[in-house]
Amino acid sequence: MTLTDLSAAQLAELHAQFQSSYDDLTKAGLKLDLTRGKPSPTQLDLSNDLLTIDVDTHDAAGTDLRNYGGLQGIPALREIFAELLNVPADLLVAGGNSSLTMMYAHVTQAMLFGVPGGQGPWRDQAVKFICPVPGYDRHFAICERLGIEMVPVELGEHGPDVDEVATLLQDPAVKGMWVVPMYANPSGAVYDEDTTRALFSLPSAAPDFRIWWDNAYALHHLTDEEPRPLDVIAMAAEAGHPDRVLTFASTSKVSFAGAGVAFFASSKSNVDAYLKATGYETIGPDKVNQQRHVQFLRDADGVRALMRRHRELIEPKFQIVRETLEANLGEYGFARWTHPEGGYFVTLDVLEGTASRVVALAKQAGIALTPAGASHPRGNDPFDRTIRIAPTFPSEADLRTAMQALTTCAVLAAVEKLRDKA
Ligand code: PMP
Repeated sequence: MTLTDLSAAQLAELHAQFQSSYDDLTKAGLKLDLTRGKPSPTQLDLSNDLLTIDVDTHDAAGTDLRNYGGLQGIPALREIFAELLNVPADLLVAGGNSSLTMMYAHVTQAMLFGVPGGQGPWRDQAVKFICPVPGYDRHFAICERLGIEMVPVELGEHGPDVDEVATLLQDPAVKGMWVVPMYANPSGAVYDEDTTRALFSLPSAAPDFRIWWDNAYALHHLTDEEPRPLDVIAMAAEAGHPDRVLTFASTSKVSFAGAGVAFFASSKSNVDAYLKATGYETIGPDKVNQQRHVQFLRDADGVRALMRRHRELIEPKFQIVRETLEANLGEYGFARWTHPEGGYFVTLDVLEGTASRVVALAKQAGIALTPAGASHPRGNDPFDRTIRIAPTFPSEADLRTAMQALTTCAVLAAVEKLRDKA
């Protein structure tokens, strides 16, 4: 039975049924949260040894880690993550606790001072960023904050349509693009090699076009397939645009989301420019925390093993999401959802024109969801259909309840809409 095929009488009957389930929900006094992609307390517990480790005061090279200096981060940690992220260790910077800080810094530095090989500060020029949608709301917030125009392109399973990007790049104002290449937030899309190579080789009217390659979920596999991130710095160089890609990652969802280590890697000229600019902000990162991570993680295999333990905790939650969506929405045929093989999110597309209603209904029933539209620039989902589900933080029992409630709201909103149209 597809919802859109129902007669007015059948819709009225279904409406009564779901309205009554919804009324019961609102009386249940729920208070559940599916908003942000945070690790659960149990996941954080996996790294509790970080809190008690007897941290060395000096590293192997004899550097006193307690003192100032070492802007690029400690070599031992850079070695571990260079292997994992598939970048050369000498082009990798280990910084503070947040890759978002580094991404924001790159945009502000470009606005104020320009980028290597560019034509001066971007703030003196028209600046647009290509924004694959659905995407990460905090990327879009950076653009909004700095007055950068956002140009949405639809994100497919393996990246956006390359021809569409090629056309946009003919505009000299297009200077940036946001990419979450592995297990994208929120769809789970994985950029394939062909798309990646195309993005690096396409001609751009702006000589200083840059891609913010945010590999926040590079290590966060949910299946036995554990693909290594593409060797993007070499690929960009091979494509003739060595400075085009700025890559970012962090241990926010490896160790502690609030007390991990963030990474940046790119061409030598971009890394040099970044370190020069960062030298005005700080005399060096928290090397003690970096060393703590080296002792706790040990090596790349240590990180891989830890990530498998994370998977053990979160894979069942993704299963709950998938099973509930299938069981409660499958038969009605109006919704579709993603089947991510990694990362932290599932994207649910409900009936067009109802996402904000679903979120509002859920809120009234005590379920907090990311605002409808958040996955689009300026919060504007033109189809009002995309909802981001973040299953990692709640317990399995809470998640099950929240998903039951969410699917009830999705059907109720769809029936309301179709009934009004009928
Ligand atoms: N990038 C993406 C795509 C994310 O989803 C997140 C966390 N929600 C971040 C970056 C934030 O990373 P960090 O904690 O390193 O600042």
